[in-house]
Amino acid sequence: MSQQPHPSAADLRPDFLHSFLLDPARHSPDAPAVVESPEAGRTTVTSYAELRSHTDALAGALGALELEPGSRVILEADTSAPALAMLLACSQAGLTFVPVSPQTPQQRLETLIDTVRPALHLQAANGNRTDVPEAVGTGRFDRDGLTVERAPAHRPPRRRTPCPTDPAYIIFTSGTTGRPKGVVMSHRAVVAFYRGMLAHRIAGPDDRIASTSPLQFDFSLLNIGLALGSGAAVVPVSPQLVRWPRHLLRILRETGATQVNGVPSIWRQVLRHEPKRLAALTGLRGVLFCGEEFPLPELRRLQELLPTARIVNCYGATESMACSFEDVPNPLPEEVERLSLGTAHPGAEILLVDPDGRVVDEPDVVGEIHLRSPALFSGYWGDPEATRATLVPDPLCPESGQYVLRSGDLALRGTDGGYRFAGRVDSQVQINGNRVELGEVERRLTAHPGVTAATALPLPLPGGGTQLAAFVTLATGHCLDDPGDLWTFCAETLPPYMVPQEIRVLDRLPTTAHGKVDRTALLAEAGARA
Ligand code: ADP
Repeated sequence: MSQQPHPSAADLRPDFLHSFLLDPARHSPDAPAVVESPEAGRTTVTSYAELRSHTDALAGALGALELEPGSRVILEADTSAPALAMLLACSQAGLTFVPVSPQTPQQRLETLIDTVRPALHLQAANGNRTDVPEAVGTGRFDRDGLTVERAPAHRPPRRRTPCPTDPAYIIFTSGTTGRPKGVVMSHRAVVAFYRGMLAHRIAGPDDRIASTSPLQFDFSLLNIGLALGSGAAVVPVSPQLVRWPRHLLRILRETGATQVNGVPSIWRQVLRHEPKRLAALTGLRGVLFCGEEFPLPELRRLQELLPTARIVNCYGATESMACSFEDVPNPLPEEVERLSLGTAHPGAEILLVDPDGRVVDEPDVVGEIHLRSPALFSGYWGDPEATRATLVPDPLCPESGQYVLRSGDLALRGTDGGYRFAGRVDSQVQINGNRVELGEVERRLTAHPGVTAATALPLPLPGGGTQLAAFVTLATGHCLDDPGDLWTFCAETLPPYMVPQEIRVLDRLPTTAHGKVDRTALLAEAGARA
């Protein structure tokens, strides 16, 4: 019997973010890893070998600071080749990065610093941040390396060896559902997620994936993982340019992007103002969206303009990076009212649980999504109470000690086995004693041929009480001759208490920094005009 040699320490490659993502650098060092076109006519390509050597250089500079494994590093930057090298370098140096937007207001940055007590604040060489609190070391980075401006305080390290259970990063949620929470994700969890995602074969080495999500949202880390994990290239799109359809299309054209990943709202202005230029991008063969439901009229229009593109509906929350990936049927049949989310990615499982804690097994019955997965977050930074409310004992076998993610999302399982999103637990609101499912109202409104997108909200009235309001955008060239039209249309299928008392037509729905519909801004606007 031949003797198997014992694996050497170097062969045992524990699951760290940097080692997983830089693997293609070993096999195809010359392939493009990042393709950028920040200005018209100026495209730069960073190969895997270059990304690897930038990462090594930055990790060396970070290592020289002798920080304890798990020390936090605020990374204030937009997505770029140097920022990517820096986050990989943090991983390689055993440090936890906390991505922050350069647009973050000073006060919010200081609150964040009070919360995570970082050792270092790093920004891109051209960053504008000046008032970083004294207790934190500071530095700037670019393609040429790291310049430490203020050395971090030296604390005797209690630990020496990074472990895959260490936090790879902390992402602060936008706080749309309350105060911001720091989602702590371990190396092991994020690599498990990447493996599950890559099993869907959404991209290959020839792809160039435009990442339109700002770096401080985990959607950008999903895009980076999808691109580098597939041996493809990341195409960073600056959050400032995403909103301008011509700039967005220029970047896609100049970088040769083959896939665009982002929240549904990135397409709204493009569909409205630049349909011909979009249709001319024949190299675009994939679109992945995540973050909220894609209004079906807009999705159908996108399919008309990109008839051969594979469109993937990615569902999930920051607490597990994402959860499922499902191809949108092409073309989307007329009768479809809700997109399928599919099922959880390989290695994970969705369970639906009813309000009594019973696991729902029948099709077409709504329950709250609970996710069993090796890719769950470790907890909310410094918030054990919120963690306990979200990481809950396995409802099927609490004795096992296993925890699952309680998502706050409702869904039902279709007869085809695919889950259908049915709103947030808190989107079932009581209006005048009646339970109203806001998603159902929105779905009815977008079924109207003139409506492209709709958001329904409970609107508190100045004298007390609440009324149901809806905000809609209309298709180009469409105007409602009679606004009563939409009421009649809703009343045809919805019970009277679910017909919005007020329907406002807007030019555009306001969006958050992440590009999701900004319900708080809509409420404020509605309140101001009440
Ligand atoms: P935030 O709570 O700050 O918005 P997330 O980005 O984690 O943070 O949002 C996750 C939520 O977004 C999910 O729980 C779900 O409600 C919604 N969501 C994500 N993807 C989809 C999708 N494909 N379809 C419908 N809703 C989605």
